[in-house]
Amino acid sequence: MLPDFELCCSDFHSAGLILTRELYGKLEKYAEFLVNYNEKVNLTAITEPVEVLRKHFIDSIIMSQQVDIPENSAIIDVGTGAGFPSVPLKLYRPDIRLTLLDSLNKRIDFLRQLCDILEIEAEFIHGRAEDVSKMPEYREKYDFSCARAVANMALLSELCIPFVRVGGSFIAMKGPNEDISLGENAVHILGGTLASVVEYDLFDEKRRIVNVKKISQTPSKYPRNSSQIKKKTL
Ligand code: SAM
Repeated sequence: MLPDFELCCSDFHSAGLILTRELYGKLEKYAEFLVNYNEKVNLTAITEPVEVLRKHFIDSIIMSQQVDIPENSAIIDVGTGAGFPSVPLKLYRPDIRLTLLDSLNKRIDFLRQLCDILEIEAEFIHGRAEDVSKMPEYREKYDFSCARAVANMALLSELCIPFVRVGGSFIAMKGPNEDISLGENAVHILGGTLASVVEYDLFDEKRRIVNVKKISQTPSKYPRNSSQIKKKTL
């Protein structure tokens, strides 16, 4: 399903990453399961082999290069969908303690089966981020929260920052177009500060990784409920 090992190695190399035979084997299983499952349950519009390699796998793993992730960090992937960015990241960095969160149960079902096949340990949560982060067992418990392609920066901050402990980070994976500064007010209200926005090329496309450092506790009234969040972002 993926391009051959040599081509994948060369793409990994040009992104500054290393591909081992073992990782390649796991990514092949991931790609095959994803594309087959996608025929009955909608998970992704990206199914062409080179695109799966670049836009899903390398785009996810590249986070390990752009962000300093200490060993054994606890990471929650908010709105993970088919497991991006955190499942490829966990294959690259098996020490990471992973929690996968999505509001759609059919995606959580897929992820449970996928993680079985890949022999990955993870915690699975079916729920809306704005409800789950109010629960004491998940609130401010993570070193990192991350999200790709879930919402604009202001809304996403309200979904992701409450999960992060003070001293940890919220990582948003973004394309080139969104005005990140529109999320700055939300970031401050929720206890964060915009630490960096790193721009990089993913083959012929521009990408950005936004790193929000958590500097104080999120006030207990946040996140608001989903209808309030949608009505007006912070
Ligand atoms: N992160 C994946 C990726 O980059 O391919 C999936 C992106 S998909 C466009 C957005 C995902 O976020 C969907 O799986 C959706 O169910 C989930 N989602 C949206 N709002 C959410 C919320 N408030 N809480 C949890 N999951 C949410």
